[in-house]
Amino acid sequence: MTLTEIQIYFRHVLPAKDDQIFFLSQLLESVSIAREYSGAWSTTMLKNGFRLNVGQVEALSCTFQKVESARKSGCQIELRILLAGDDCDLAFNLNPEFESIVAMNYASIGQAHWCYSFMLGTLHSMNLEDILDDVGEQIKRLAGLRRRYIDRASHTSIGKVRNKSNFAATHCPALIEYAELICKVENESTGGWYNGYSWKEREAKLKEAHRLQEMGVLQPASGPCQLCGDPNVEVKSHDEDYSLPYLWGGTAEYALCLHCHIHKLHRRFTNPQLWLDFLAHVRRGGYASDLKDKEISKEFSQYRKAVASGSAFTLVSLRPYTQEIGQEWFSKLSTDPSSLRDTNARPRP
Ligand SMILES: [Zn+2]
Repeated sequence: MTLTEIQIYFRHVLPAKDDQIFFLSQLLESVSIAREYSGAWSTTMLKNGFRLNVGQVEALSCTFQKVESARKSGCQIELRILLAGDDCDLAFNLNPEFESIVAMNYASIGQAHWCYSFMLGTLHSMNLEDILDDVGEQIKRLAGLRRRYIDRASHTSIGKVRNKSNFAATHCPALIEYAELICKVENESTGGWYNGYSWKEREAKLKEAHRLQEMGVLQPASGPCQLCGDPNVEVKSHDEDYSLPYLWGGTAEYALCLHCHIHKLHRRFTNPQLWLDFLAHVRRGGYASDLKDKEISKEFSQYRKAVASGSAFTLVSLRPYTQEIGQEWFSKLSTDPSSLRDTNARPRP
C-alpha cells in the first residue's frame, strides 16, 4: 500500500487524529523495541487493520471493524499486545468491560506468554479519550512484559538473534512511515537520530553488539543502572557514541534500566522538565522502580506540581546519594532537540 492509501484508510477508521496517534504510537513503541534486538520484524497491513510480527509470531495487532447503528456509524477496535512472563493474568487489574489477558501457545517463545487485548466499540457512550488514557496507563504497566516477549520472539530457542521475520514478504514500510508522520509530535524526539548519528549508524553498532555477544567476546550490559543506581533491575546498553571503531563502555556506553533509558533519557527532548524532575528524584537516592510505589509516586507528582508553580518542595531522601550533583555524566546531556542531528553534539574521534 502507498502512503496515501494508508492515510485514507486511517482517516476512515479513526477520524480523530489523537486516536490514530494512540494506536500508531503503540505500533512504533513495539517496533522500536524490536529494532533494538534484531532486524527480524515486519509490519503488515491487513484488510481490517495492521500487525507487527517479530520472528515467527505476532507481537502486536490492531483491527477495526465498521459497525452501524440506527443513528450513527462507528468502529469496533481491538488492540492486541503480546506479553511474556509468569502469571500475567494475575498481575494486573483489568477492566473486564474492555480488557482481557489470555494465555497463548507459540512454540517459538519458550516462556509463559499472553495476549493482552483491549476491545471497544466507538459507539460506546463513554468518551474514547478517557478510556484511551486509562488503557495507555495500563499498557505502560505492561512495558517490561511486552519487551520480554519481543526479546524472546527476536531470538531462537538457543538464544541466537533471528535474521528475518517469517512475514517479511508482506512488510509494509509505508505503514511505519505514516505512523512516524502522524505521531511526529511524540516521535520528534528520535526520528532515529541521536548525537548526530543516523538510525543506520546506530543500528549498525547494535547489530555488531549482538554479533559480539553471540560470539561471547562482549558481555551484555550488567547492573546497577548507571542513571538511577538501582542494583536489582534488568539493564540494557545505552550508547552515547556510535563512531568507528566502536567503544563498548566508558563515556560511550552506559548500562541503564528500561525506565531510565526509554521513558526518561530518550524522552528528555520532548519533556525536558520531566527529565529535570526525574534527576531530582535520582539525586534524593531514588530508583526509577521506586516510582511504582504509590506513596512515592504521589510525592513525586506533588514535587512536580510545586516546581511548575515555582514553590519550594523538598523530596524526602530515600538513600544516600554519593555522586557530585551536577558532575554526573547524565547531567551534561543536552535537552535541545537540534542536538539529535548535530554531529557536533558528540566529538568524533
Ligand atoms: Zn535506572
